[in-house]
Amino acid sequence: MTTKPSLLLALLVAAFAVSPSAQSPAPQPDWKAVEDEAMRHYQALIRFDTSVSEKSAAEYIKQVFDQNGIPARMLSKDPERPNVLARLKGSGRKRPLLLMGHTDTVPVDASKWRFPPFSATRDGGYVYGRGAIDDKDNLTAAFVTMLLLKRHNVPLDRDVIFLAESGEESASQLGIGHMIAEYYPEIDAEYCIAEGGDTIREGGEVRYATVQVTEKVVRGVELTARGISGHGSVPLKSNAIARLGNAVGRFTTWQPDVRIDETMGTYFRRLAMQAPPERARYYRDVLSPDPKVSGPAADWLFEHEPRHASMVRTSVSPNIFTGGYRSNVIPSEAKARLDVRMVPGEDGPALLEQIRKAINDPEVDVQFTGGGGTRPPIPATRIDSELFKTIEAAVTSVYKVPTLPTMSTYATDMWQLRARGMQCVGIGSAVDIEDQTKGFGMHSDQERLLESELHRFVRLNWEIVSELARAR
Ligand SMILES: [Zn+2]
Repeated sequence: MTTKPSLLLALLVAAFAVSPSAQSPAPQPDWKAVEDEAMRHYQALIRFDTSVSEKSAAEYIKQVFDQNGIPARMLSKDPERPNVLARLKGSGRKRPLLLMGHTDTVPVDASKWRFPPFSATRDGGYVYGRGAIDDKDNLTAAFVTMLLLKRHNVPLDRDVIFLAESGEESASQLGIGHMIAEYYPEIDAEYCIAEGGDTIREGGEVRYATVQVTEKVVRGVELTARGISGHGSVPLKSNAIARLGNAVGRFTTWQPDVRIDETMGTYFRRLAMQAPPERARYYRDVLSPDPKVSGPAADWLFEHEPRHASMVRTSVSPNIFTGGYRSNVIPSEAKARLDVRMVPGEDGPALLEQIRKAINDPEVDVQFTGGGGTRPPIPATRIDSELFKTIEAAVTSVYKVPTLPTMSTYATDMWQLRARGMQCVGIGSAVDIEDQTKGFGMHSDQERLLESELHRFVRLNWEIVSELARAR
């Protein structure tokens, strides 16, 4: 009996499909339908005012998970401020992957908003609303990715865990702190993906994506100036307030030494490769081991790109100044609080010495607030890791741009997980860099995201997660 060509073809196709050497490709969702669904969830999540209580958003997430057959639990320390935890089971061949997004937002001054802050108004290709880029974009992208994995029955080599956190902005003891203290085995994972990276659009085009692999360490330093007290009608050279003023004034021109580690070295090298030559020069110079070259470059950054200036060193910002109680009394003491953001591995006592030298006044005492201890350095997520490389490949596929590893100048919830050995990265949807100066940035009196960038970000999340977790 001869085999008809069409049957032969069918047999060949079938044989190929079950061939153990062929890797199962990730299923391709119907992206048009996914976009509609993602927009619906994104708008719904923005429309819950979660600046005080996250409960409404948490209930919504749990309800959608329930409808889709994904087991989810609300876990809370304060019942008004619950977290939502869900898990898709894998074969256990690899350790889990944790996806995090926070449901809370910072508060709003509604009078400053063109569109009501919880309206999720769509206008001119943007979605406006509090949380649009912090963090309801990450939350939506991770949430939709979970729904897609379930709906397509994607076989998994590892569990994928989803955590919608409460309290990220101001009460992390209710969110990540509570989850670590009470439920750590349920969120324990090899990898974790959360907010903290930025995908930079400039002139309407995505230029590069930054992936947060480490973050600065927040410390407070207190300056105490002492002088002789007296009657305000008789000025004294030892005046504590004037002394403190001089000390604090130093920080407009002086900052600690430039300290660049492997992460930031890679960041500035890659940034220089795609920046205009007049800016690229400073990114290269700041890496020089010669302080005569790196110093002026760091000064230029301090003047023109303060965020980059904070990334090349431990930073010092005087943010609170207290002293005096009556206009006719010279006080004997005045205090200032410095917000110090240390690069990982900074030597605390050596830093205090640098600050003392810069102030150069023995009558001004310089101490860490809350004791002198420094927590042991937390290693950065490695850029040669499977996690980072997978993200880099997904960024190339979705945006066609380079990936730069970066360090947050602020703290995120990830440090507590990194401290336990989890490899974490922060990613973010693509935002116009021009929006920051127009007042549309995170925490601004307006917040917005391009609809098209929400959709690309969902796609990015899908590519990363399905690549890391699907069965081979
Ligand atoms: Zn955030």
